[in-house]
Amino acid sequence: MAVLPLGATEQHGPHLPVETDTLLATATARAVAAAGGPAGDHATLLPALGFGASGEHQTFPGTVSMGTDALAGAVLELGRSVSTWADRLLVVNGHGGNVDALRRAVSRLRYEGRDAAWLPCRTSEDPTDTHAGHAETSLMLHLHPGLVRMDRAARGCTRPLGEILPALRAGGVAAVSASGVLGDPTTATEADGRRLWELLLADARGRVTRWQPGEADGMLR
Ligand SMILES: [Zn+2]
Repeated sequence: MAVLPLGATEQHGPHLPVETDTLLATATARAVAAAGGPAGDHATLLPALGFGASGEHQTFPGTVSMGTDALAGAVLELGRSVSTWADRLLVVNGHGGNVDALRRAVSRLRYEGRDAAWLPCRTSEDPTDTHAGHAETSLMLHLHPGLVRMDRAARGCTRPLGEILPALRAGGVAAVSASGVLGDPTTATEADGRRLWELLLADARGRVTRWQPGEADGMLR
């Protein structure tokens, strides 16, 4: 199995680095690869693809996005290349905006007879904490404490995602949050980051062990 971490380069408020999603995807992919494939078979960790589809953050400096079409094409070609030497490809996704591209590319790879699948890094179940808020900041305090500037952390938009989605779609993150933060990073702690990390890993490992890619989207159930 080959494991590809897929992240993004996009603003994460004033307190987290633009490569946050790539760092979370890489840490998850590294842990998953260390445990091996569904039957404990050997897994190779690939270098991360650190650019994704981040159009909703484009008005903020630091955001570098290739968009959904280019990302779908990149994942498709990387998957075709990898499948010449690996029986299986797992993409570990750290950014929600990449999902449309992943659904398209991974289901195409599967249609071509390649055993590709992807899994999300489940950072938070809280619909008011979706970007650079409590969960992501806590995880970064646990995994990369030297990269977090807690002195700059400030509460962002804390309305539920379902409520702000129309405004987000029309005007991007800037339409609902001047700082770019969706959630409240001021409550983040290293201890909660460790707890969330264990939950994230258990979720990811369960998906790999079961290896049940969804028929329409290629996401591991
Ligand atoms: Zn993020």
